[in-house]
Amino acid sequence: MLNSVRVRLTLWYTAALTCVLIVLAIATYVILRQNAMRRTDSTLSELAESFLTTVNAELADESGSITLRKAAQEAISEHNFRDFAFSIFDTEGRTIIPFQNLPSPKDSENDSPDVFRKLINGSSQPARPFRNVQLGGNKYRGYARRFSVPDGNYFLVVLQSLHRQEEFLDSVIQTFALVIPLAVLLASVGGYFLARRSLSPVVAMSTQAGRIGEANLHDRLSVQNKEDELGHLAHSFNDLLDRLDQSFERQRRFVADASHELRTPIAILCGEAEVALSQQARSPEDYRESLDILRAEANRLKHIVEDLFTLARADAGQYSLTTTEFYLDELAADCSHSVRTLALARQITLHCEAPKEMPIRADEALLRRLIMNLLDNAIKYTARGGSVSIVCGYGDSQYTLRISDTGQGIPTELQPRIFERFFRADKVRSRSESDGGGAGLGLSIGRWIAEAHHGRLELTHSGPKGSTFTVVLPIPSKTDQPAR
Ligand code: ADP
Repeated sequence: MLNSVRVRLTLWYTAALTCVLIVLAIATYVILRQNAMRRTDSTLSELAESFLTTVNAELADESGSITLRKAAQEAISEHNFRDFAFSIFDTEGRTIIPFQNLPSPKDSENDSPDVFRKLINGSSQPARPFRNVQLGGNKYRGYARRFSVPDGNYFLVVLQSLHRQEEFLDSVIQTFALVIPLAVLLASVGGYFLARRSLSPVVAMSTQAGRIGEANLHDRLSVQNKEDELGHLAHSFNDLLDRLDQSFERQRRFVADASHELRTPIAILCGEAEVALSQQARSPEDYRESLDILRAEANRLKHIVEDLFTLARADAGQYSLTTTEFYLDELAADCSHSVRTLALARQITLHCEAPKEMPIRADEALLRRLIMNLLDNAIKYTARGGSVSIVCGYGDSQYTLRISDTGQGIPTELQPRIFERFFRADKVRSRSESDGGGAGLGLSIGRWIAEAHHGRLELTHSGPKGSTFTVVLPIPSKTDQPAR
C-alpha cells in the first residue's frame, strides 16, 4: 500500500496537517488561558481598589466611630459578587475578616494558611501579588494588597473562583479534541481523492507509454494541459519518443542501405564466378578479365565493409584516436602526390598550395583518409581536362584545407543531403565512372573525422563550374606543437 504515491502523498499530507492543527490548538489554548488570566488579574485589582475605596469611605463617614470590621462588612455586602470572596489579614497574618462561603483551609481558623501567607508576602513585590490558590478542590485566583487605616496596616486578599474559566478552557479542549480528528479525517479523505485526481493523468500516461513499442513508435502521449508539470513531462516523453523514433528510423535505413550496397557487389561476384565456371573452354584472357572483375568487386566490398565498421565504431563511441605530431601541410602534399597518377589518367591538373608550416597533433591516418576522400571525389566528379586544387590556410585559431575542383557541381537541392550516409547525388554516374564506385559513405566518414578532431567539414561552394569542400581544424596551442 505504501508503494502507491497516492497513499504516500495522503499520509504525508495528513501527518503535516495533524501537526499543524495540534500546534495551532496548543497555541490557541495557551493564548486563551493567558488572556483569561490577565483579565482575571485586572478584575481582581480593580475590585480590590473599589473595595478599599468603600472601606475608606465607610471609615471616614462615621468619623472614627466605626471599626474596620464593620466597614469591611459594609464593603463586602456592597461587593457581594458571585465567584468573588474578600478577606482581611493583619500584618501578623491573622484573619481579621474571613472569606465568605469558602471551604476553610486546613490550617487553623485564625491563622492565615500557607497559601495566603505566600500571597501576602508576594504583595510587596509588584510582579507577584497574584497567585493560584486551591481550596477544597476548587481553584481560585488570589490577589493581596496592603492598605492602611488609622488603627494600623492590613492586607486585603481577594479571591476569584476559576471555575468558569476552567469550564471555558475545558470546553475549548473538548472542541479541539472533536474538531481536529474530524478535520484530519475529512482532509485525508479529500486529500486522497485530490491526489488520485491529480495523479490520474500520470496513470493514463503510464498506460499509454506501456502500449508504445517498436511497432507503434509513432504513437505519442496525449497532453491534456501543455502548461502544467504533467504536460511538460508528457512533452519531454514525446520528445524522447521522437528522438528514439528518428534514431530507429536512421538505424533501419542504415541497415537497409548497407544491405542494398552489399548486395550489388556480392551479386556481381557470384554472377561472374558462375559465368566463369559454367563455360568449359575459356581463354586465359577471359579468366583474367573475370578475375579482374572479381577483384574490383571484392575491393569495393572491402571498402564498404571497412567504412561501415568505422561508422559503427564511431557511433558506439569506440573509435579512439591515435594522435601523433606531424605537419598538416606535409600531409596535404603527400595526399596530393598519392592521387597524381589518378589525376594524370584523367588528364586533370593537380595543384597543392601550402603557404607555411602547419604543425598539428592529430590522428594522421584518419586525416589522410579524409583528405584522400575529398581529393578522390574531386577527381572522380571532374571531367577530363579539368583541375583540382588543395589549398592550405590558417587563421588565428584554425587551419583550413580547401579542396576545389572544376567539376559539374552538386545540384543545389541535393547539397544539404550529401553528408548523409549512403547518399549519392547521381548513383548511376558515381558507380559507373569509378573503379569500385562510392557507396555514399565517404563524406559522412569525413565529417565524423573532422568533428572527432573538434573541427568541421563543409561544402563551401558548389556550382556548374565546380565545388569546394573546406576542412577546418583547430590549431594546437604552442606547447602542443611538434619540434621540427
Ligand atoms: P561517394 O562514395 O559516392 O563519393 P561520398 O559520401 O564521398 O560518397 O559523396 C556523396 C555524394 O556527394 C557523391 O555521391 C556525389 O554525388 C557528391 N559529391 C561528393 N563530392 C563531390 C564533388 N567534388 N563534386 C560533385 N559531387 C560530389
